[in-house]
Amino acid sequence: MQLCDFISNEDIKNELSEAMSSGTLPHAIIIDGAKGTGKRTLATIIAQYGVCLADNGRPCGVCSGCLKAIHGSHPDIFIADGNHSGELAVNVIRQIRSDAYIKPNEAPAKVFMLLNCDKMLAPAQNAFLKVLEEPPANVMFVMTVTSANMLLETVRSRSRIYSLFPADPKQAAEFAAQKFPDKPYEELLRAAGLCGGNIGQTIQLIESGGEEAKILAEEIFASMQKSSEYELLVRTNQLTKDRAFAAAVLDNMLEISAECLKAAVGAETNSEIAVQIARKMTKKKIYAMAETIRNACGILNTNVNLNFFGTWLCAVLKA
Ligand SMILES: [Zn+2]
Repeated sequence: MQLCDFISNEDIKNELSEAMSSGTLPHAIIIDGAKGTGKRTLATIIAQYGVCLADNGRPCGVCSGCLKAIHGSHPDIFIADGNHSGELAVNVIRQIRSDAYIKPNEAPAKVFMLLNCDKMLAPAQNAFLKVLEEPPANVMFVMTVTSANMLLETVRSRSRIYSLFPADPKQAAEFAAQKFPDKPYEELLRAAGLCGGNIGQTIQLIESGGEEAKILAEEIFASMQKSSEYELLVRTNQLTKDRAFAAAVLDNMLEISAECLKAAVGAETNSEIAVQIARKMTKKKIYAMAETIRNACGILNTNVNLNFFGTWLCAVLKA
């Protein structure tokens, strides 16, 4: 894949393209944007740039370096995904820190992709900060996160932030049409419209049709605003259905937290509930709530008894 294949976000593509051709790409990049806006795709294109073997027009998309990057098998690209338990834990970050000083195997540069940093706890971010402050030569760090506000100010200030926005619904529908050639175009366009042009969410909506986890996450946030604890407890106890469902609800809750932080700093958000919460809670409290939800994601991965989990989550969210 090349930069021109990435759909929409022309400003960012132009800026990246210039930086790539002039060799001035920053060593630390944060890509933020809602789930489904193509953060991982763009991060992979940037990683390709780091390992591409072409003399010019990098990333070329066809050399062995680019192809290995696309297939996720390049020895000089390290991927840690916050959606996989423990991959962004502090010990992993310390390992990354020391690996960063070892020369690349075969590529011009070594690339560390830290994906879904929404779940990266503060101690891990602080450990990461050390290598950002004194970056080794020929090393690139590419992070993805729903909102850069979820990361510590110290990490943000040492990185270049590129914010992705959804595509035009028509562009999203055209993309979906390649994936679902048998579906009527009108149906795809309707789904793309419902998702505000967000390509990933459009695909997900067409595939699953179900929005149950998203709805429950919003209901939990709405219940948190009420004085009685009872309604919140009823909602959090719905997480006991099954672990995968609970994980999907927590993921949605993290996304809403990111939207709350956006609203709290006056940035644009489509989330009505986030706007309401940002009116009532301070930025500090929202950040603490996001940290609580991140901790809950970690606890859910430890085979906790789900019956207690709902009650526990209710208590910590109310605290
Ligand atoms: Zn290449």
